[in-house]
Amino acid sequence: MSDSTGYLRYSEEQVVWQEVPGETALAYTITGCSVGCKGCHSVDTWPKGSGTLLTPDYFQQRLDDYQGLLTCVVFLGGEWQPQALLELLVLAQQAGLKTCLYTGLEDVSDDLRKHLNFLKTGPWIAERGGLNSPTTNQRFVDLSRGELLNVRFLG
Ligand code: SF4
Repeated sequence: MSDSTGYLRYSEEQVVWQEVPGETALAYTITGCSVGCKGCHSVDTWPKGSGTLLTPDYFQQRLDDYQGLLTCVVFLGGEWQPQALLELLVLAQQAGLKTCLYTGLEDVSDDLRKHLNFLKTGPWIAERGGLNSPTTNQRFVDLSRGELLNVRFLG
């Protein structure tokens, strides 16, 4: 289900260094995830329509504000509104930045993949752990190089 505005909404915006290896990324935690992982640490972000609107104008303003300081943008969710997400990915690419998506799904559409440099897939399964666990089910792939980067997350 899409937000009635057609835009994504976010609960958190921050600059991060861990989520995408080797990159300084502007990260948005997108609200409305419906994957429903048991033990999800972000249950408060599940309600659709919660959080702050992430309009293309606002996003472009943030890219302008951070010009020269970022190398990447990362969306933690948002694939459930592919058109809204695509529009933001294109803006990031036009600003010369790499793009990354964290999804709890096993894959996303080719349309999205075409506009992503990095993709993290897989739901949260507590007993397997996250990307920093050798037994994780999750995968972090550099799509540009076709390279699995999980090893970069291991302590
Ligand atoms: S995909 Fe992420 S945000 Fe969604 S339920 Fe699973 S852990 Fe939570």
